[in-house]
Amino acid sequence: MLVNLNKILEIAEDWKCAIGAFNTPNLECVNAVLDAAEGMDAPVIIMHAQLHEAASPLEKIGPAMVLAARRAKVPVCVHLDHCGQLNYMEKALKMGFTGVMFDGSLLPYEENVRMTKQAVKLAAKYGAGVEAELGALASREDGSSVASGPVYTDPEEAVRFCRETGIDALAPSFGTAHGIYKSTPVLDLERVRVISELTGLPLVMHGGSGVSPEDYRTGIANGLRKINYYSYMSKAGTQAVKDLLAREDVTFYHDLALAAQKAMQANAENAMRIFLGRQ
Ligand SMILES: [Zn+2]
Repeated sequence: MLVNLNKILEIAEDWKCAIGAFNTPNLECVNAVLDAAEGMDAPVIIMHAQLHEAASPLEKIGPAMVLAARRAKVPVCVHLDHCGQLNYMEKALKMGFTGVMFDGSLLPYEENVRMTKQAVKLAAKYGAGVEAELGALASREDGSSVASGPVYTDPEEAVRFCRETGIDALAPSFGTAHGIYKSTPVLDLERVRVISELTGLPLVMHGGSGVSPEDYRTGIANGLRKINYYSYMSKAGTQAVKDLLAREDVTFYHDLALAAQKAMQANAENAMRIFLGRQ
């Protein structure tokens, strides 16, 4: 069933766990993630990122995501990931998206506040929850690095930001990066605990691929309630296709797609097991 971001985060708080949030730029991903969530009888978040527009236009994948969420046997939030334009955000909200992330992390503080407040007002009209970002990760979601380097979120500034904007969830910067890690990430999970305590809001981990199970567990104990995870799931799909092609002379693309889907489902299940504290 389709539920909004706040409902999902409420469940996460009740269960003291994090809900997995997966980008789903094609139907194989949607199926993989929803099959994983239904198999585990757990809530989940599926996301569209503007970054994937070329591979998967919002106009086409968005309605499919909303329909799949409505038909799912578990609570599903359909979320817009990393959006910096309010008109694009409104398109998603009109389609039935139930959560949005406004990313003004590269803007000066006051401008980030001003734009995020507008996003909160807009999302409220549609009953959707809002996530926003403060500080800067070491890399953007397209894998490019941030010239000035990572800026860890200042806890005091986070409190002010949450109060001024009225957001429902905060994505702080504490050492994770988007994409595939080139070296083992060193996370400041104590910062997560302090920000969680001071803001009282659910926190979001971006760049969730490649973090150790131990760090996930500590981060969740310290207040992470949504973990964005995509790169490793997608890589598992690609690997399954490579393996299949090495074994067999495959003619039909749908056989490759299905192999990718099954591998992504298994990878998503593993991640969710850790996020849900079932392992
Ligand atoms: Zn992100």
